[in-house]
Parts: sequence; C-alpha cells; structure tokens
Amino acid sequence: MSIKVFGHKSPDIDTVCSSIAYAWYLSKKRSKSAKPYILGDINKETELLLKKFSINLPATLSSISAGEDVVVIDTNNKEELVEGIDQANIIEIIDHHKLFGNLSTDTPIKVTIRPLACTATILWKIFKDEGNEDIDKSIAGIMLGAILSDTLKFTSPTTTEEDKKAAEELATIAGVEIEKQAEEQFRAKSDISSYSPKELLLLDSKIFELASKKIRVSVLETTLPRNAMKQKKELLLSMNELKKEEALDGMFFFAVDILKSEATLLIPGPKEKEIAEKAFGVKLTDAQALLPGVVSRKKQIIPEIERVL
Ligand code: MG
Ligand code: MG
Ligand code: MG
Repeated sequence: MSIKVFGHKSPDIDTVCSSIAYAWYLSKKRSKSAKPYILGDINKETELLLKKFSINLPATLSSISAGEDVVVIDTNNKEELVEGIDQANIIEIIDHHKLFGNLSTDTPIKVTIRPLACTATILWKIFKDEGNEDIDKSIAGIMLGAILSDTLKFTSPTTTEEDKKAAEELATIAGVEIEKQAEEQFRAKSDISSYSPKELLLLDSKIFELASKKIRVSVLETTLPRNAMKQKKELLLSMNELKKEEALDGMFFFAVDILKSEATLLIPGPKEKEIAEKAFGVKLTDAQALLPGVVSRKKQIIPEIERVL
C-alpha cells in the first residue's frame, strides 16, 4: 500500500504543497510508493498556485484505517489531523510548529521539526542534504509559493535566512520572479468574496488545547482587512455558533494586514476579552482591537494566549 502524505485540516499552501512535494520526492528519489492527500478544501491562494504550475489537486482524506502508513506534514498536533490518526502507522513527521506531544507511535520514527518559517524550507534542506537538488520546475514553484505564503514574503517574524535562501534557490529552479509571484499570491489570498462568514473563520484556523482549554484561533491574512471587518456582526454571530457547536472554551479571530504588518483582533465574548487584554496589553472596544506588529499565530499569538491561560 502506498504511503499517505498529508498535513493539517483547514489546509494552507504549505500543508498542501509540502505534502505534494514530499510525496513526489518519496516516489521519484526514494522509489517509494507515496501519494499526497488533503484534509479539507484548499484556499484561493493554493488553487492559484496549483493551476499556475499545472499540478493536480490531491484527493481528500476523511478518515484513515488502522495500520496505514502515513507521513504527517506541517503539523504535529492531533487536533488538526484526520479521524483515525491514533490507529495509523505514522512513519515520519516533518514540521515547523511547537511540539504538542499528543501523538504517539509504537516504534521509533523519524521526526524533523525545525524552527524555520515553512515546511517547504525543511524539505528543500532534506533534498539538498541527499544530493537531490534536481527537482521538477513545478515542484520548485509550489515549494517557493509555500515559503512566500508562510513568511508573508519574508515579513513575518518567523522568517529566517534559511527560508530566504531556499526561496531564492527554488525561484531560480522554477524560473519565476519572487516579487511577481508574491504579488499574485497576495491578491488571491485577499479575495474573500465567495466565502460565508463561517467559511472565512475556518479558512485558516486551528484548534489548540492550551492549559486544558479548547481554543480555536482563526487568522485571515489579507491586504484588505476592511473587507472582512465589514462583516463584523456576522463574524461575531458565527464565532458564537462555532463555540457552541465545537464546545470551545474560547475563540479568537485575527484579520492580519500583510502590507501594514498589524492585526485586527475580534472576540465573541467576555472570557476572550479578558484573555486578549492580558495577552496583548490592549483594551478592547466593541469586541475588537488593533494589534500593531502582530502577524504570526505561531510566534506572537499562541504563546501569549497560552501564557495568560
Ligand atoms: Mg500550515
Ligand atoms: Mg507551514
Ligand atoms: Mg500560515
């Protein structure tokens, strides 16, 4: 049976493209049978990238059978993975998030977690270490896309010199210009016209178990936060619905302005207000606050919320 390679729910570019790139690598360079999968609908930015580099959309996985071989990409958090992951045979994890410690295996496995901005950067290092820099143009193109997305074109505080270097090398292989590519992606990212408020909240969203509390943190990276905030009332309603539906202890929504490097925080209730005011040292008015300089869930949002909890 072929190895199933996939990332997290609410798939972003890195999760989708790094799963595709690694499955490709396992097949082409390590002669393994491997296939990429997604755990949900892709966003507009991913759609654009796959189309641009003529890459097929991976099949969607809704559950996994006991004993199936899987590689987990761009997460190590059980909360973000597919039904049945506990019974699957996880053979490898490649990620760049904090260690959650809620996955376990029967035997020792290969785990690669690096404090880099993007899983695609880690993959590129693995490929190079193994002397396999000769990758397809299209694979290089989507890996570059993942780095530009996860680093917000190198403006996110998660960005390292290694991410920049990898992006430059991949751009050369793909034969694309970084500036132009990023601009296209930002435009696609910012087109939210077809989403309902609930879809908008789940587009880039993760559930975390923090201090025994179940917290959902949603982010919308955009050049036009105004377009999202126009729907503030509906967003707040949807947030409260989601909290009930999923029995959440809290939910936070951050509309991140990727050009100004700031976030508008939206919260649905008094509990979140208290947490947010302590976490970010601001006063919330009308369920919202502007947070200058805040763009990264991983580095600036989760650690602060966790500290308060
Ligand atoms: Mg991701
Ligand atoms: Mg990532
Ligand atoms: Mg992201």
